[in-house]
Amino acid sequence: MATVLVVEDSQFQQQMLSDILSQEHEVVGVAETGTEGVKMAAELSPELITMDIIMPEMDGIEAVERIRDRGIDVPIVMCTSVEQTEKMKQAVVAGADQYLTKPYHETTVLETIRDVL
Ligand SMILES: [Mg+2]
Repeated sequence: MATVLVVEDSQFQQQMLSDILSQEHEVVGVAETGTEGVKMAAELSPELITMDIIMPEMDGIEAVERIRDRGIDVPIVMCTSVEQTEKMKQAVVAGADQYLTKPYHETTVLETIRDVL
């Protein structure tokens, strides 16, 4: 079991992901913008972060960069839509470890996170 910070602007997606994660992990926080995600990553020291890409204020790629700039080295799993391959590459360059594709499949989500941990 790991403590997880979910960074995602869509309440529907937050709920979907939190429900799946809660089966094996503890969701300790939900951030709705990249800015909030960076702040909460520092405050909550989660063991894993899931990061949406398209968000208001600051996108997931910049948020990953800033989290890494602060020396926070926990695994970050990007949450993308299938058409966001270019952004996915940018996210890996920024310091992301893995990715999940929406819509979420329970087994895939839990397996991916087990692998990353
Ligand atoms: Mg989004």
